[in-house]
Amino acid sequence: MALLSVEDVDLGYGELTVVHGLTFEVNAGEVVALLGPNGAGKTTTMNGISGVLKPKRGRIVLDGKNLAGRAAHHVVAEGFRHVPEGRRVFGTLSVKENLRLGAYSLRKKPSLIAERVKEVYDLFPVLGERREQLAGTLSGGEQQMLAVGRALVTRPRVLALDEPSLGLSPRMQHEILGVASDLASQGTAVLLVEQNVREALRIADRAYVIELGRVVLTGTGKELAADKRIEATYLGGG
Ligand code: ATP
Repeated sequence: MALLSVEDVDLGYGELTVVHGLTFEVNAGEVVALLGPNGAGKTTTMNGISGVLKPKRGRIVLDGKNLAGRAAHHVVAEGFRHVPEGRRVFGTLSVKENLRLGAYSLRKKPSLIAERVKEVYDLFPVLGERREQLAGTLSGGEQQMLAVGRALVTRPRVLALDEPSLGLSPRMQHEILGVASDLASQGTAVLLVEQNVREALRIADRAYVIELGRVVLTGTGKELAADKRIEATYLGGG
């Protein structure tokens, strides 16, 4: 059984449905990419899983428990962490304070928080070097690392990354996606929304292409990277 399965889910805003009968799964240790043009419904899907948006229909099952419609804090407690698009770090707090805030659900155990924060410094040494620096003064890439680090302090079972490489240099994009890939090798399930389709397919075990709120194509990262339709639409071929 998959760690996370999204089963026949409809999502939308008010009367409007923008995601229709969406079904996909993510296993522990896998990177699964959701691809598709702007407006396809990728962010809406992430918000539907994380509890920001209540599904109109369907089930979202994490490790056997249906989370559809549960509050966001409950979904976090079950092990799903979502790093939204746009690197929302607390700019006037230090790197260390941002990471400690990420660990709020562990707040009664200071030694555990210190241990988890150290794990993030091991993963992103630059954050360790800059632990006292205000987050707002970090570079874009460092802020993205901090946003990911803040999610990791609770050791999520599923880490959802929404456009983590947006606005970063190619070197930073490579580094962030490399960390996502390493986390999956260590057993985390990684759900990735990426506009950089080439890089996403390089690290994705599997991917789903979504158009107008429906899955139109699925396959392994390798299969999709070699698919003529993907090449023509997303990789600049023709
Ligand atoms: P992008 O990469 O541009 O963020 P996306 O695939 O993540 O695209 P969504 O942001 O999920 O797409 O948007 C899916 C559809 O839902 C779009 O048609 C969008 O206009 C609509 N939509 C998104 N947010 C809202 C909202 N708060 N109210 C009404 N419609 C919305």
